[in-house]
Parts: sequence; C-alpha cells; structure tokens
Amino acid sequence: MHNLTLAEQKAQLEAKAFSSVELTQHYLERIERLDTDINSYITVTAAQALAQAEEADKARARGEGGVLNGIPIAHKDIFCTDGVKTTCGSRMLENFVPPYNAHVVDNYLRAGAVMLGKTNMDEFAMGSSNETSYYGRVHNPWAPNCVPGGSSGGSAAAVAARLAPAATATDTGGSIRQPASLCGVTGIKPTYGRVSRWGMIAFASSLDQGGVITLTAEDAALMMNVMAGFDHRDSTCIDHPVPDYSAGLNDSLEGLTVGIPEEYFGEGLNPETEKAVQAAIKEIEALGARTKAISLPHSSLAVPAYYVIAPAECSANLSRFDGVRYGYRCENPQDLEDLYKRSRGEGFGEEVKRRILVGTYALSAGYYDAYYRKAQQVRRLIKQDFDNAFNEVDIIAGPTATSPAFEFGAKGDDPVAMYLEDIYTIATNLAGLPGMSIPCGSVDNKPVGLQLIGKAFDEARLLNVAHRFQQVTDFHRQAPAEID
Ligand code: GLN
Repeated sequence: MHNLTLAEQKAQLEAKAFSSVELTQHYLERIERLDTDINSYITVTAAQALAQAEEADKARARGEGGVLNGIPIAHKDIFCTDGVKTTCGSRMLENFVPPYNAHVVDNYLRAGAVMLGKTNMDEFAMGSSNETSYYGRVHNPWAPNCVPGGSSGGSAAAVAARLAPAATATDTGGSIRQPASLCGVTGIKPTYGRVSRWGMIAFASSLDQGGVITLTAEDAALMMNVMAGFDHRDSTCIDHPVPDYSAGLNDSLEGLTVGIPEEYFGEGLNPETEKAVQAAIKEIEALGARTKAISLPHSSLAVPAYYVIAPAECSANLSRFDGVRYGYRCENPQDLEDLYKRSRGEGFGEEVKRRILVGTYALSAGYYDAYYRKAQQVRRLIKQDFDNAFNEVDIIAGPTATSPAFEFGAKGDDPVAMYLEDIYTIATNLAGLPGMSIPCGSVDNKPVGLQLIGKAFDEARLLNVAHRFQQVTDFHRQAPAEID
C-alpha cells in the first residue's frame, strides 16, 4: 500500500480495495518499525489517527466524505494542532499544546484526511539540514549518514521513506524545495499569500509560506486543492480564486518557454548535479517546450539580503517567547529579568539565538538604514529581475540545491556554508513567487532535484510541467533500497 501514490490510494479507497483503517494501520506499523532510525516524526498520534480513519470509513459507507477522505497525512510540527503538542522543533515549545488548529490543519480535517502525527524540523524552521532540531537529527532515508535537508526535513524524509503519502511543510527560504530535493520527493512552495499562515508558527512573516511534500505532482495538486484559499485571519492571505490544480496537469507543453538562468549554473554547482538537471531540461524540451537563456543579475545578493530580513523578522516574532505566557520557563527565577534571560537562554538553541542577535542588531537605531532598509531595496531589485525574466519566459528551471545530501556535521561549524545551501531557492521567497522541486536523477545513489519557478499564482503551470515530466520519467517512483 505504501508504494502507491496518494492519488492511487484515493482511487483504491473509493473502490473499497482497502479501508482507511487498514491504510492508517499500515502506516502506523511502518512508523513504529522504521522511524526509530529515521526520526522523521516528533509526535505520532496513533489513537487519534485510527479514530479519524474509522470516522472516514463510516462517512464513506454513508456515501459522504471530503476529497481526501481517509487519506493519512503528516503535518510539519510548525502547524498548531488542537490538543496535540506542537513544538516547532524547539525546547521552548516542548510542552505547548495549542487550543486550536492552524487554518490548513482544519482544511485537511474537513477534507477527511487522517493525521498520522507531527514531523521533525529545524528549530523554528531555521536551518537546511534538520540538525538544529531539539528532538534529534533526521536521517536521510537514501543515505542514513546524511542529512535530509531542512527545515522541513522530517516531512521530506517521512514521504521518502513511505511513512506518509504526503506531508505539509513550510518554506521561508527553501525549506520545502531543498529537503524535497535531498530526499528525492516532490515539493511545492506556493505564491506568498496563497495559503493561510494562521496557526503556522511565525519565523519570518514576509517570507513564510505553507506548502506540501508528496511523491508526485499529481498528489501535490490534490493536496493544494485543499490547502490553498483565502482566510481573513491572515492579513497577507490573498483573496484570489483557487483553480482546480488537478485540471491542467496533462496540458501540452507545446509553446511553453522555459528560462534557464545563467547565474544558477555557475561556480559552486556540483558537476554531477548539473548533469542531471541539464538532462531533465532536455526532457522538458522533448515534451515540446522551448528553452531560453536568461539572466537574473542580482542573484548573488539574495542570500545576503535574506540573512538581514529573515533574522530581523524572526527577532520580532520570537520576542513573544518570554517564559511568561506559554512555552518553556526556567526553574526558580530570581526576578523578572532573570526569568526572561534564563527562559530564553535555556529554551532556544544556538542557531535561533544567533538569528535573534543578528536581527536585533540589524533593526537597532542607527543600523536600520544601513542593513534592513538596504536589504529591502535589494529585495526589490531581485523581484524586478524575475519580472523582467517573466516578460520573456513562462517558467524558470534550474537546480534546487548545489549538491546532493551531505553528511551530518559537514556544515555544522560554518553557518555561512549552511546558509549557501539555499542559494537557488531564497530569491523566490524574496520575490514571493511559487517554486517547486521534483526528483530528476541521482548522484552516488543520492537524489537530485530540478527546481521550477513560476509567475505569481501560476502554481497550476508548475504542477503541469512537473506532471508531464513525471509521465515520462520514473525518478519519483524510486524508493530508498534499505526501506521496503
Ligand atoms: N535554510 C533557510 C534558513 O535557515 C531557510 C529555512 C526555511 O525556509 N524555513 O533560514
């Protein structure tokens, strides 16, 4: 059952080939057997999942149920879940049990999906390797001594290891696409504002966007159909009609122009990764698309601008964790100041503290203009690069990550080396555009991802290109050998 895609499971559930209880039990058994080694889940909600599965089966028997009725999924532990611990990968929220569901969690519940549990992640979504999680590192199912990518490493590893057919995720600078690339699965980060951030714990509010990780583009379309849509509780959520993302999957690629940015194929790109990506682009050409060389001249400024803007926003967002209202509180505080200092000092990990310090500095009087305002100006230039490119092309294609999964600790001592992991993904967030990663090959048996970037609200086009590619390739069908 676990090698079926979500779309295939949906069809089998509809044909009553198996029940949701059977499917859910099958995944819970796999999680119990395999996840002690992978560590992709922080919390498994077995009893609740079986109860939801029973409800889904009953609904089906009555001829009712939503579009994902009985399908088990996992949620990144950044989405608040009513009555279920939500840690955001941090000690700070080790005992936090939200009294409400995130908007997207409710959407999936209404659609009849079953929640298997909450997936592991870098602390407060800061990282590219999942090594900053307070709940331990996640092992890449393809290479257990390697990272799964981050910050949605748990969601990517869970889908790659077939411990869930689909998982929610978030992407602030690459956290859906880079782990999808490193784990050989499909990931989509929608346009900023396409998906409600309500109940999604904030890292950098002008960049954060929820999305999904699945085995195929067809599955991503089914998940997006439920996830996307307006929510008045998120003031940056956009009231724009949600298309049926499944409808155009098979559209022809004849007449499509794919831009290939020269800046994404320069120094620093692993030559084997480049070969796989170039071969994938040829495949898309064979499907009828034309390619065109383009330039995104401010690409090299994306990482520096991001590492001013994201820390600045995180320093403001994370000020709410003060040991007073909720979250971790230190033992025996001497006074209020001691309570703040020790609760935050003990509750946050190294990387989170580094970002809070950098962000606080960048926002302080006298430095604001030099750093934050300047970074926002650069952000505008990056957005203009994309606007210019999209006057000439329909989508942009290139690598998702510079290389396949790296070993644990390989970039641990060097924050800047880790920050460069997102060199091809971060600009998309700064410009608010949708991006996707799909498996397109492997190097030393470790997956490589192809990145597709679209115009604002053109997710359907990305899914269409990805689906057509997946119709003629089988990278997305390959499963890690050691996991059966
Ligand atoms: N790796 C980037 C960072 O550490 C992006 C993380 C993300 O997208 N949440 O900030």
